[in-house]
Amino acid sequence: MVYTGRFAPSPTGPLHFGSLLAALASFLDARAHQGRWLIRIEDLDPPREIVGASDSILRTLEQFGFEWDGPVWYQSQRHPVYHEILEQLLHQNNAYRCSCSRQEIIKRTGSSVYDGYCRTHSADRNKACAIRCHCSNHYAFQDRILGLQDFSSRQDDFVIFRRDGYFAYQLAVTIDDAEQQISHVVRGSDLLDSTPKQLQLQHLLNYPQPEYAHIPVATNSQGQKLSKQTFADALNDQQPVPQLIQALNFLNQQPPAELTEATTSECLNWAVQHWNITAIPAQLGITLEGH
Ligand code: GLU
Repeated sequence: MVYTGRFAPSPTGPLHFGSLLAALASFLDARAHQGRWLIRIEDLDPPREIVGASDSILRTLEQFGFEWDGPVWYQSQRHPVYHEILEQLLHQNNAYRCSCSRQEIIKRTGSSVYDGYCRTHSADRNKACAIRCHCSNHYAFQDRILGLQDFSSRQDDFVIFRRDGYFAYQLAVTIDDAEQQISHVVRGSDLLDSTPKQLQLQHLLNYPQPEYAHIPVATNSQGQKLSKQTFADALNDQQPVPQLIQALNFLNQQPPAELTEATTSECLNWAVQHWNITAIPAQLGITLEGH
């Protein structure tokens, strides 16, 4: 098997330290396995997109010394494929239309966990419909960092096409990981809950299951993930090396002091040579000092 990894940013803003961690860990793991490393821009959600963010993300990755394989994929160009597979899932009765609004679900169940109402009641076609995927299976998988993850009791029928007319992340990411022949997914633990959903889609679509590794997310002192919503600072393209070293320290790779004098490519080369995924703390989040 050829190792193929990927970094799949959503262009909702410039890269920040949290996204650097996912880029760096996925890159180092791929290169340490002599693998390929692909970039996929997940521009699936136009209302949340920032004009120019895709280009700025690619430019920042270049400034940080990352080199990727093959052309960049853009999910916005893949709608016909998503559409075809959505139809297939509906046709095979593995998915169904759902007209329940969030408020209706909360009113019925007292939570936002979906109760499968439209599985047995046909959706009200006069209302905007989402499409949900059947999810009755129990999933456990061995995470390369976190160990055994058992999701046996937490699954509800999840959305694969949104009521507002957009394809959902779970569908697009599962299809693209399969079509790009991704063998190893390395990403932030904020996506851990998405993994059983993606395993379910892989099962329904007869796709192979990649290996997963979820790295801790960087949080601020209130325990919130660094993100655009928590006003994380954009990476500084002019000072890549100190930020790479900070990210290597966060991932507990113990970069030597001399690396501060290195170029980005020397820094990344050192990190590939010394990559040790088992040193990464098996934690969902780590507070980043000074945030
Ligand atoms: N596009 C997702 C994000 O930026 C990441 C998807 C993934 O790595 O599976 O949060």
